[in-house]
Amino acid sequence: MEIEQRILTTNPCYKSGRKIAVKGLMLHSVGCPQPSAEVFIKNYSNPASKVCVHAFIDANTGVVYQTLPWDHRGWHGGGSSNNTHIGIEMCEPSCIKYTGGAKFTCTDREKALVYVKKTYDSAVGLFAHLCKEFGLNPLADGVIVSHKEGHDRGIASGHADPDHLWNGLECGYTMTKFRQDVANTMNQL
Ligand SMILES: [Zn+2]
Repeated sequence: MEIEQRILTTNPCYKSGRKIAVKGLMLHSVGCPQPSAEVFIKNYSNPASKVCVHAFIDANTGVVYQTLPWDHRGWHGGGSSNNTHIGIEMCEPSCIKYTGGAKFTCTDREKALVYVKKTYDSAVGLFAHLCKEFGLNPLADGVIVSHKEGHDRGIASGHADPDHLWNGLECGYTMTKFRQDVANTMNQL
């Protein structure tokens, strides 16, 4: 897992300069068919931007682009999760097409699974690294959550990511498996 620093110094969230005591990590996916992290970094560099996350994971390469200092208060979850959780976005396959809300069709499932595996594997490595850095237990209740789970818990806005992507592609990934994979990886660090 490779981390490149691309701090979004022109984003108003960065400029607001607020810090948090990190209590957890929230996993997102971008919700559009764009595998390139560079595209999001360019968009989020806009001084009028109203959102900001701590990192994007590129779906072509699996490279992690860190876009905020980890203990900076992000604008990623909506609700109170911004006060406690680091937010990480996984980019999504180019071969899917959204048809309304979190529903999509996919023209090449095999190809989509390659993209999704890249982001999943890097996310596991990154979350293990961050759990170690901030002394977090990946299996404890509410520490690692998806945006969807955050919404279900009342700490995030009404989104379905990234569960909708994994479920829609029937790729076998779940947040339960993700947390366990993070814990297993942490034990090897
Ligand atoms: Zn999200």
